[in-house]
Amino acid sequence: MTDCLFCKIVSGDVPAEIVRESAGALAFRDINPQAPTHVLVIPRDHRPTVAELAASDPGLLAEVVREAHQVAVDEGIAETGYRVVFNTGPQAGQTVFHVHAHVLGGRGLNWPPG
Ligand code: AMP
Ligand code: ZN
Repeated sequence: MTDCLFCKIVSGDVPAEIVRESAGALAFRDINPQAPTHVLVIPRDHRPTVAELAASDPGLLAEVVREAHQVAVDEGIAETGYRVVFNTGPQAGQTVFHVHAHVLGGRGLNWPPG
């Protein structure tokens, strides 16, 4: 998708601090971090939401979640705990409609979230 910010990160047209790459997924630091670790994991292929990814390519969704865990391992927060969030839809705060898992950790995280 030519007009998608995260597709442009995949293609290299927009720079990002990439922390992990796999065959189907890419992980990079959020530009506006909300926790000491705040990394986004995306499929290389454009899918608007996690629901559409689950329906069209569940194996790729599994790869995104595996990569999210590997980010936590790499960042040293897998044992202390971390959160994986897929904001879905405007009322949940989704602003970029290329599915992304937020990996958050490195501090205590409130529950329920705001
Ligand atoms: P969401 O609000 O769930 O759609 O999340 C979008 C996330 O993308 C936000 O946390 C933004 O800070 C982040 N973001 C926006 N532009 C960039 C960028 N160029 N590089 C890295 N993260 C970005
Ligand atoms: Zn895209």
